[in-house]
Amino acid sequence: GNGINGLEPLESTISDTERFKDVANFRLSCPNCSCSFDFGGIIASSDYTVCPNGLQCRKCDHLFTPLQISCQLERCIRSHISLYYAGWIQCDDPTCGDATRQVSVFGKLCLNNGCTGVRYKYSDKMLYNQLLYFDSLFDCEKNKKLELKPLRHIDDAHSSPEKLSEASIKVLTEQNRRLLEINRSVVQKYLSDCGRRYVDMGRIFDFMQ
Ligand SMILES: [Zn+2]
Ligand SMILES: [Zn+2]
Ligand SMILES: [Zn+2]
Repeated sequence: GNGINGLEPLESTISDTERFKDVANFRLSCPNCSCSFDFGGIIASSDYTVCPNGLQCRKCDHLFTPLQISCQLERCIRSHISLYYAGWIQCDDPTCGDATRQVSVFGKLCLNNGCTGVRYKYSDKMLYNQLLYFDSLFDCEKNKKLELKPLRHIDDAHSSPEKLSEASIKVLTEQNRRLLEINRSVVQKYLSDCGRRYVDMGRIFDFMQ
């Protein structure tokens, strides 16, 4: 179909920060102390450290196994896919909060009394973009080139820990290449399916049940 072609301008002309401005973060929870935090790739974070032998929780020093990350990643991806399939339609007015489970209404005015918002659906484009974002987090090249979308807004930069140097990010990326590649392949599995069946993603859904 021509759904994929519709993504091409996005691919080539805008930065990941812009492209991913509306995506959800990848939230990881520590299997040891059960705190949870957003993972934003190999960056400075007050919640986690990427050290030469993996990802470490800053609260309890637990070192994640690759499987402890990839399982959570897969669960997160599936929850986004089911959101897409549930056909939730939400009003874009944050004060309205109208969410109706109705399929195939697209960009209709909100039916809530007096609300001027527009209802939108969690679309295939949003899902595809979300998967591309997860993919970027585990992309060695994007990590090394510091091209990842920042986790926080610029105005709360003061609360972030000291930045990692480009040189140390390069070294840490190589040291964690296997970890990144394992997780990236999890995303790729869904991304290639999603791309191929940009409109009809029925097979992924069957696989989930
Ligand atoms: Zn922990
Ligand atoms: Zn998620
Ligand atoms: Zn509304």
